[in-house]
Amino acid sequence: MRNSTAPVTPKEATTNVVYKISCQEDHCDSSNSYIGRISTTLWHRMHSHRNQRSIFQHFTETHIMKPALEKLLDQTEILYKENYFRKLQISKAISITCQRPSINIQATDSILPSACPQERHNPPMQPHLQEQGAL
Ligand SMILES: [Zn+2]
Repeated sequence: MRNSTAPVTPKEATTNVVYKISCQEDHCDSSNSYIGRISTTLWHRMHSHRNQRSIFQHFTETHIMKPALEKLLDQTEILYKENYFRKLQISKAISITCQRPSINIQATDSILPSACPQERHNPPMQPHLQEQGAL
């Protein structure tokens, strides 16, 4: 029983949060997770996770099925709620850096294979081409 009379927002209607989905299908048993940030409702984001990008890819490749909306919501934990967008972005970045959720890491690796700063600043050496005897 609650002591507060303030209205409770249902989880699916929650906005402005950093959230973590821990996959509990089959052998994953919460070992594979994803951390995201939303300004829209959690329900809206779960719709998009169900049909595209890394969560969809994890479920279809690992579990050979699309994730169910209710199951995604059940497996979602709110890590941080913040109405200031920049603080929310920073919180997401810190959460990903500290927790290293495997589904985020895989998605980043597959989308940005050359994102390593060392590769960007040190391109492979090209032999210097000189034209000789062109007169
Ligand atoms: Zn899984």
